[in-house]
Amino acid sequence: MTVALYPGSFDPITNGHLDVVHRAARLFEKLIIGVFETPSKSLLFTAEERLEMVRQAVVDVPNVEVQSYSGLTVDFARKVKALAMVRGLRMGSDFEWEFEMAMMNKQLCPELDLVCLMASLKYQFLSSTILKEVASLGGKIDNLVPKHVAEALRKKVGSIR
Ligand code: ADP
Repeated sequence: MTVALYPGSFDPITNGHLDVVHRAARLFEKLIIGVFETPSKSLLFTAEERLEMVRQAVVDVPNVEVQSYSGLTVDFARKVKALAMVRGLRMGSDFEWEFEMAMMNKQLCPELDLVCLMASLKYQFLSSTILKEVASLGGKIDNLVPKHVAEALRKKVGSIR
């Protein structure tokens, strides 16, 4: 079975991430979404909250599984027997970082290959970071995330404000 891992912080999951999930789920027999518990960036949601939001967002995709992980992504990829790692590439912002990480991951785990899917045009400028910024300022986010994520965001920023 061809298994792929789509790792990320998903703080929170957006429609841009979901677009990548649906496209990757068509390419591989099984797609595992890996929610990285402890990224070095500052987070709005806890690991459990991020995991639950991702789970809810993909309940209707039969060949997608969601797991959280810590430590090296390549170690998690080995554990779940992934053949490939999936990442999304937005114009300008992602390429250099993904390239650098891919080179390092290749050193650490030569048998794992990286598959990058170009972000769809309508999600090119969508990031969890900008989404959180807009939500914290009371802007409309409903067309950018699933309903349960929009609600969780409003609740979270409301409790922080
Ligand atoms: P990380 O902290 O690992 O970058 P993110 O949750 O920010 O985790 O992103 C996970 C992956 O999804 C990355 O490959 C990122 O480039 C990709 N991604 C993020 N937003 C989008 C989007 N709007 N369209 C396509 N891919 C995206």
